[in-house]
Amino acid sequence: MFTKKTIEDIEVKNKAVLLRVDFNVPLSKDGEVRDDTRIRAALPTINYLTENKAKVIIVSHLGRPKGIFDPAVKLDPVARSLSRLLKRKVIKVDQTVSEKVKEIVSKSSFGDIILLENIRFNPGETKNDPDFAKNLAELADIFVNDAFGTAHRAHASTVGVTKYLPSVAGFCLVKEVINLSRLLENPARPFCVILGGNKVSDKIGVIKRFMEIVDCILLGGGMCFTFLKAKGYNIGKSICQDDYLDEAKKLLKKVENNNVDLYLPEDVVAADSISESASFKVFSVTEIPSDWYGLDIGPKTTELFKKIIKKAQTAFWNGPMGVFELEPFSHGTEGICQALADLKGVTIVGGGDSDAALRKFDLEDKVSFVSTGGGACLRFLEGSELPGLEALDDK
Ligand code: ADP
Ligand code: MG
Repeated sequence: MFTKKTIEDIEVKNKAVLLRVDFNVPLSKDGEVRDDTRIRAALPTINYLTENKAKVIIVSHLGRPKGIFDPAVKLDPVARSLSRLLKRKVIKVDQTVSEKVKEIVSKSSFGDIILLENIRFNPGETKNDPDFAKNLAELADIFVNDAFGTAHRAHASTVGVTKYLPSVAGFCLVKEVINLSRLLENPARPFCVILGGNKVSDKIGVIKRFMEIVDCILLGGGMCFTFLKAKGYNIGKSICQDDYLDEAKKLLKKVENNNVDLYLPEDVVAADSISESASFKVFSVTEIPSDWYGLDIGPKTTELFKKIIKKAQTAFWNGPMGVFELEPFSHGTEGICQALADLKGVTIVGGGDSDAALRKFDLEDKVSFVSTGGGACLRFLEGSELPGLEALDDK
């Protein structure tokens, strides 16, 4: 259920709308947009606003410029990509807030699209500075948040501005919340969760929460080595967060008392270096050589995980099973992607790298929903409040 007001609950005609989106897209070496997924995700909201004769002032961040100007993350390539996708003009301005921006906004017509410069060039953004938020809010009559990817951050352009303007959700934000809520509200069972990626610290909250609601948890990727070490195995040079060993031990103990099956890999693909040309071999988890790196789940584990996923009615996946960017260590992740694609039930994927993996194997259209947010998706699922969502007006 979505309890916040949306753009359909408010009159936008002849209004100036401050629209926060998440255009934090990857750039290619020549500085062009390499993957426009996040830009495309905001198109329904932008089109709705312009078709309904609103003046749209778009705000986004790109990269982490730390409150100062950085030419490498100007939004010009984003403006070009957006303009191409919309097949219309986008007025790109070179500042975030200034007298010049105010003038450009006031001179533009209803139905126009203006893109402000990278909002994180201003130090007030991540500090949620009230004066900066007020200046930003003064550009518009209404605030629309469509940036699910930054909803877990209380910044000036996600939370600060809501103090000064009627604040509602855009279509992308609504879609994210509704789809992710399907995992938390009466999911069809069995409910299987597959978690990987490189850091336990990012995922520990989700593992804990899911222990209470899912039927089985499959752990792979770099983070499973912290668990394997916690179990007493020699993991060689595999990635490990030693400061999470105690937490991992506690979780493994808890599993014994909970009604949930937790699976760790039985075999792994290990290599003598992290490169495409490394020597690599499949090992049982009990026999990883001391100076080798575990870089993927092994074929036996992949088959086991696929078999378990096949029985699920609901599945959520976050975090690649291995270093899928390198061919020799991509097969575990490919197997999981394929199993999800073949599943008839609800299949939801979160995380930028997991999304990239689905695309690599050309399976992104074969799952029910891919979240545009990494951190925000995990925070939402672990039950943490998303400040950017909370700050919007209630229905
Ligand atoms: P997502 O973006 O989907 O949330 P993460 O950012 O948590 O995923 O993790 C993705 C990264 O984890 C990938 O770049 C991948 O190479 C890395 N990774 C996966 N398995 C391993 C491993 N065994 N050792 C080192 N890195 C790994
Ligand atoms: Mg990632």
